[in-house]
Formats: sequence, C-alpha cells, structure tokens
Amino acid sequence: MLFRSLPAKLVGVEGSGPWRDHLVTVATEHKAVLDPVRALVDEGYRSTVLGVDAQGLMDVDAFDAALGERTVLASVMAANNEIGVLQPLAELGARARAKGVLFHTDAAQAAGKIPLDVRVLPVDLLSLSAHKLYGPKGVGALYVRRKAPRVSLVPLVYGGGHERGLRSGTLDVPGIVGLGAACALAQAELEAEATRLRSLRARLYEGLRARLDRVALNGALEPRLPGNLSLSFHGVAGEALIHALGDIAVSSGSACTSASREPSHVLRALGVGDDRAHSSLRFGLGRSTTAADIDRVIDRVVDRVQKLRAMSPDLEPPAGGLTWEAP
Ligand SMILES: *Cc1c(COP(=O)(O)O)cnc(C)c1O
Repeated sequence: MLFRSLPAKLVGVEGSGPWRDHLVTVATEHKAVLDPVRALVDEGYRSTVLGVDAQGLMDVDAFDAALGERTVLASVMAANNEIGVLQPLAELGARARAKGVLFHTDAAQAAGKIPLDVRVLPVDLLSLSAHKLYGPKGVGALYVRRKAPRVSLVPLVYGGGHERGLRSGTLDVPGIVGLGAACALAQAELEAEATRLRSLRARLYEGLRARLDRVALNGALEPRLPGNLSLSFHGVAGEALIHALGDIAVSSGSACTSASREPSHVLRALGVGDDRAHSSLRFGLGRSTTAADIDRVIDRVVDRVQKLRAMSPDLEPPAGGLTWEAP
C-alpha cells in the first residue's frame, strides 16, 4: 500500500531538533509496515519492534519508554488483520505527541469497521486501503496532518507535482470515486453493522464452544473488530481444516503471507506455541454474512474438526492444558 516506502522519505516535524533516525513499531504489524521498517534499517535507521501481551495488546508505558529523542516515527496498527484486536490508539498517540514523535497508524482493517476520527485521535498519518472496506482494489488513502503538527513528506514519485507535490502522476479517478463511495456507505452503516456482526460473532463462537472442546480464542475478545474471530482447534492443522471446509472461506494466518509455511508472526508475538499457531483459523464476518451462514459454518466446522481429530486419536493432550481452554 501507499505506506510501503513512506518513512524512507520522511522529513519529519518542522523544528524537530536533532536528526531523527529511530523508528518504533510492533511485532504484530502487517508486513506492509514491518518490511519497510526492515528496509530502512538496512539504510541506516534504527528500529525498536515492541512486543505485545498474550492478548495481543500493547503496553502504553513500554511504548512511551521506547520513544527517544531521536525517534522520528512510531507506527502502530489500529486493528490487527489476523486476530482483530484493537490497539489503544488514543493513549499511544498522546504519548507520541508529548514527545514530538510522528504517529502513523495502519488503519487498513479498522477503517469503515470502527469509528476513526482524525480530528479527535492524536494521529499524524493514517493509511487505509479501499478494498478492505468493499471498495475497489488498487486504491488507498494516506491522511497527512497539516497543522499541529505539520507533517512534511518528500514525494515518492516525482513528475508534475500532483497532490500538493506529494504524488505525481495522473490520478485513478474511478478508483478514488470508488473509495469515496465505499467510505460513505461504510460510515452510514457503521454502527448498525458493528452491532449485527458482534451478535453474529457471538453466535459463532458460542455455537462452536458448545459443541467442541479444546477450542482457544486467539487475542482479546474485546477490544476487537466486530467481524473477526480467530480460533485454534487443538489437534487439527489449519490448512487441513480449510481444505475440509470446502466452500466456506476462512484463512489461516494472513492472506498476504499465506505463501509462506511459517507459523503466523502475529500468534508467535502472543507467545502461542507452534502447534496452536498451526491450528489457527480466522473467521471473517462481513456485510453479506447472515445468521443462516453462521449456523451452516458451525455445523460444518464441528463435523470436520471431529473427523480430523478422529484421524489422529493418539494426539498428545495440549501442553499445559489450560492454554487450550477458551477464556
Ligand atoms: C490488507 C492490509 C494491508 C495491505 O493493504 P493492501 O492495499 O491490500 O496492500 C496492510 N495492513 C493491514 C493491516 C492489512 O490488513
């Protein structure tokens, strides 16, 4: 997305004092943030990649302590793309602001799903992607604060000075109109849709837990995106379950990194063992999901998990047992 090589070009806050070459981010970020941070480190920047607790949430004081005199930018995602947990943006942004550190949030998952208002949030840069909120693929937006503080960026692309010199090149008007329309629709439906999805998610979670044991929830149940449920089914490989589920679309780990067989870096950051990470599944509920869909998914998942478990009856009980109990 747009953010990919953004901080490489960062000039920083006006009058920001000494040369700043330090970046702060979080282990559970999307690769769209982690990879550019790594590339910047190759260019000579320093980085601090903070951990999260077992629920996937950040510690605001640890974040604060990581911000130094030379920190130019901190980047923390609003909502995680695998486990859906929401980071405390208001508190984190306030700490960054108090230290004159620019605060970027990757809101690709959060935009259109939970309230986000840059007039209220202490966020200096916010990126989002249209296709995550039912808009067209290939278009996104970067919010850049213009006052208090004024964020100045050097362009990624030169050649005509479009968009206040920030990004030259003729604009993708259909894409932009599509993004705008998608945002307007999402905004109009946001509250009702969030309530509807929370109730469907509870139906799914409770339905599965009532009929299956050894189901673990990955990440805090709240605060979490209304349409996200990430579960691990002990003794069942996520990939095998996906295959067995047929036309039910679920994912193991991130779609963007699913080509790799590595266990999810997000679940690892939560301290989840490899076996539990490999048996995780993300259910994404959205605009077209109905209660009938949920009931069908429950029946299918229960049946397939039971069958797959029956195929490996010698399965070791989970180490430390309790980690497999849903909270
Ligand atoms: C999908 C996603 C991205 C990448 O956005 P694209 O426009 O699809 O490249 C970045 N961050 C998060 C959290 C995402 O979910």
